[in-house]
Amino acid sequence: MRNKPTFKAYLSAYHNEVTGSRLLVVVEFPDGSTKRVLVDCGYFQEIKYRYLNYVDDLDPKDIDAIVVTHNHIDHTGMLPKFVKNGYTNKIYMTNITQQLCPAFLNDCAAQQRENAQDMKERYPEEAKMFKPLYSAEDVEKTEELIVGLPYRKTVEILPGIKITFFENGHILGAGMILLQCQYKGMKSINFFFTGDYRMKNCFYEVPPFPQWLLDMPLIMVNESTYGNTNSDEIKKCLKANVLESFSKKMDILIGAFAQGRMQELLYFFKCLQDEGLIPEDYIICIDGSLGIKTTEKYKQILEWYNPEKKDFLPKNVIYVTPKQRDAVISDKRPKIIITTSGMLSNGPARTYVPIFLQKPNTMIHLAGYAAEETLARTLLDAKRESIVKIGHNVITKKAIVKTTRECTSHATADEMINDFLKQFNNIVLSIINHGSYENREIFAKRVAEETSAKDVGIIDRDNMYVIYQNAQKDDKYNDIFIKKTPAKLNTQFNRIFNKDAEAKRREKRRKQKANKKKMRNAAKRKRKSEKGKDES
Ligand SMILES: [Zn+2]
Ligand SMILES: [Zn+2]
Repeated sequence: MRNKPTFKAYLSAYHNEVTGSRLLVVVEFPDGSTKRVLVDCGYFQEIKYRYLNYVDDLDPKDIDAIVVTHNHIDHTGMLPKFVKNGYTNKIYMTNITQQLCPAFLNDCAAQQRENAQDMKERYPEEAKMFKPLYSAEDVEKTEELIVGLPYRKTVEILPGIKITFFENGHILGAGMILLQCQYKGMKSINFFFTGDYRMKNCFYEVPPFPQWLLDMPLIMVNESTYGNTNSDEIKKCLKANVLESFSKKMDILIGAFAQGRMQELLYFFKCLQDEGLIPEDYIICIDGSLGIKTTEKYKQILEWYNPEKKDFLPKNVIYVTPKQRDAVISDKRPKIIITTSGMLSNGPARTYVPIFLQKPNTMIHLAGYAAEETLARTLLDAKRESIVKIGHNVITKKAIVKTTRECTSHATADEMINDFLKQFNNIVLSIINHGSYENREIFAKRVAEETSAKDVGIIDRDNMYVIYQNAQKDDKYNDIFIKKTPAKLNTQFNRIFNKDAEAKRREKRRKQKANKKKMRNAAKRKRKSEKGKDES
């Protein structure tokens, strides 16, 4: 019997749900060499996982290359920490993401002190481990390692490993990544990472995939943020809400992320303006230095990427500086203010919200998901005329607060299945990634039932995959064997950070101790009484 050389790839995740995105591909070639590629290097934003930002569970010195899907901090925010801890190889992203990314990493660096302090207050017993993760200097070093690639250009990033970026409507510059592991004489192992995705974007067309990609045997790693939501469940109400506010001359305050949402909202208002729907006396303002910087970058990028859309700003839009903020607030004209942060907890929103929340003639609009412990969540949960605490301020909520999910930059479940996955003819394994535990389970079930994927699984810090390729290049069929194995990355930290589990354990220990004591006392009493019997 011929002894077959093994050609295999391991895929593991260092994240659990929707943020902190980090996927590791370890390729073992038949000649015994090994290469390790990290896909995304994200920052944990979910409160329950934030401690993981401070845990070193992966040695950056072991990584041979990093590829980045898009410029969201939960996919890029740990790059400077990796560089600080000894990563010196290249970081690949699209040439558009390369333009946008440094400003966001610097913004994240500037928040490090405050973030570490917040963690110390949350976990006083572990206070020592929470220090600023990196500085602006580390961001500078990171920038030097970045290689920007155009879409659809295949590049060999390491011997035997090639990547290609494909267009993605999630945000400007986002790329889906085809990662091909190749070895002479053998069939390749091909991963396709969707990253976060959406099929359309108001700033550019997402062209169709080439046929060769649709026919290629793929391990599809698919996000599932909206895995439990269909398009018809998303009500489109933004335009109607805005028009109603115009008719009542109300001020409009909208929270927006610095990249994507802010520019799309500006374009939305430009379209309304072109239709003559914005009353002449309204002023349109944007606030937040990162959002303003990114808006300017959008203009520069669209100039060459899609000139048709480069004039996406409404006429006379005002870029508000911190100095002008008070003047804008007291300006008597009705106004539209688009400000960071998206969930209103940070940035200039901290100034605007306490003031506008007290004004009955204001509509505060949220344009996306409101996470726990954010100001957006507090505002949504509070009834009108009730008391809201914002920092040290105690405020009566008089403004109207509305929200919509129509501005999402993620595909819904039906879009992911019908418009995306069903195009692919040869999905060997579909791995559901990046979504809440519940959404991943629900979406995985749908993918198994509704698509032609041969196998379906989910991935997080508890599950990993080993993919064996046994087929020679001229074999008629693929011979891929897949093993799902436990990764157990979570267990080592549960003890420290899962407070509920710790409390339960403490209670159990207390009960055990009490029981033992009880038994000891009972035994003592028994011995005493027996002794007494003997003596009597
Ligand atoms: Zn994203
Ligand atoms: Zn994401």
